[in-house]
Amino acid sequence: MATDFDLLVIGGGSGGLAHAQRAAEYGVKAAVVESGPLGGTCVNVGCVPKKIMWYSAHHAYQMKHAKDFGFDVSVNSHDWADLKKKRDAYIQRLNGIYESNLDRRDVTYLQGHASFIDDRTVAVGDTQYTAGRFVIATGGYPTVPDIPGAELGITSDGFFELEELPRRVALAGSGYISVELAGVFNALGAETTVLFRRDGVLRTFDSMLRKGVEDAMRKDGITLEKGVVPASLKKTDSGIRLIAEDGREFGEYDAVVWAIGRAPNTDTLNAEAAGVELDARGFIPTDDWQKTNVEHIFALGDVTGREALTPVAIAAGRRLADRLYNGMTDRRLEYHTIPTVVFTHPPIGTVGLTEEAARALHAEKVKVYETRFNPMMYAFSEHKTETAMKLVVTGDDEKIIGCHIIGDGVDEMLQGFAVAIRMGATKAQFDDTVAIHPTSSEELVTMR
Ligand SMILES: Cc1cc2nc3c(=O)[nH]c(=O)nc-3n(C[C@H](O)[C@H](O)[C@H](O)COP(=O)(O)OP(=O)(O)OC[C@H]3O[C@@H](n4cnc5c(N)ncnc54)[C@H](O)[C@@H]3O)c2cc1C
Repeated sequence: MATDFDLLVIGGGSGGLAHAQRAAEYGVKAAVVESGPLGGTCVNVGCVPKKIMWYSAHHAYQMKHAKDFGFDVSVNSHDWADLKKKRDAYIQRLNGIYESNLDRRDVTYLQGHASFIDDRTVAVGDTQYTAGRFVIATGGYPTVPDIPGAELGITSDGFFELEELPRRVALAGSGYISVELAGVFNALGAETTVLFRRDGVLRTFDSMLRKGVEDAMRKDGITLEKGVVPASLKKTDSGIRLIAEDGREFGEYDAVVWAIGRAPNTDTLNAEAAGVELDARGFIPTDDWQKTNVEHIFALGDVTGREALTPVAIAAGRRLADRLYNGMTDRRLEYHTIPTVVFTHPPIGTVGLTEEAARALHAEKVKVYETRFNPMMYAFSEHKTETAMKLVVTGDDEKIIGCHIIGDGVDEMLQGFAVAIRMGATKAQFDDTVAIHPTSSEELVTMR
């Protein structure tokens, strides 16, 4: 097998695979080193299995409302173990597809852990490989606090290993992974608590979304505990107790999930042997062109500490290949106006500046349009889930610089609006677009 390549990519996740495959399509002799299953975080312990669990939870909600529309339904049970079996099999199939995708493009797949020997050489097991260029796309891993008993808890990786639904669950953390997993546990029947350090969840999101999701979580029976700094976990006869720094005790729980953040996979990469600089937290700083401080070594995806999202890693990887190997000299990913969805119940969609950030940046030039309503889907329901929408605009032409939506269906609604906003759409252009009736999305083009 060859040991010298034009390009060696470390990490066979979203970004690494996207880059290597695009480069190979341009005739580059490329290899990918992957120490785990192909596909990385998203496919194995992220977006994909998470979305399957979200669908399961979504069905639980749908069944609650089925009787409003004439059905006589009773739900007897939910088989978590069976769902996990199907989910695992689905992911295994995807791993196989990823491998044949590499094969089809003549990308060499090296199984094992890569570490730098010098800036031109990487060791994988006992073999050394050289390359003209390297791309580091090693992603990250979920962190666990350094406190007594922390090992009694699991992380999001452990969530995907659960063979059964824990009856009582606590999630520590306020980010999107915490609230998404909380929604799944709760919908599928667990007593669910979310504990977080400060005063709310999703702290970087628009205030309307934060309030909306907290209200929905409470209404659905999830307990939210603010101002909790975990100091230890303790095993008791009947479960796990969480003790906070201020002495308060929470639990018992059958499972505690740490969802407190992610760290970059650079600890064992030996990046210093190649002269690649890391920041204080171990992320690899890159410029606008995905370049590290070493001319022929690039980095992309979660390991760079930028927007940690699959499509971001993929877009950065493909554009880098377009630029390096297809003469598209200006091609790069611009890290602004990136749309994203949080798969809560109901889901959240967001793109652009929050109202708070827009006001800090553009002060009095900012105007906000907001609406909230009960979608027609809840016309006959006692338990209604509100939809809320906000457009943040600026300047005399009311250019839309932020769009924030929460409610049923917004996960599939945002993408098209994100295109318009990326193209610089104004409020008048939204208003000029004929509404689709009856939908929830029509409210976005009829706001006053
Ligand atoms: C629970 C969860 C839910 C998520 N949900 C979403 C979502 O809904 N939408 C979304 O867009 N994003 C989501 N994400 C984020 C998304 O998964 C990541 O942003 C994305 O996977 C990053 O891609 P990457 O290529 O940078 O890294 P990764 O996909 O993490 O790939 C890195 C790969 O490098 C390998 N590796 C590491 N070090 C080495 C080494 N030294 N040698 C060889 N191989 C190595 C790892 O094994 C891994 O396979 C979620 C993440 C989590 C944890």
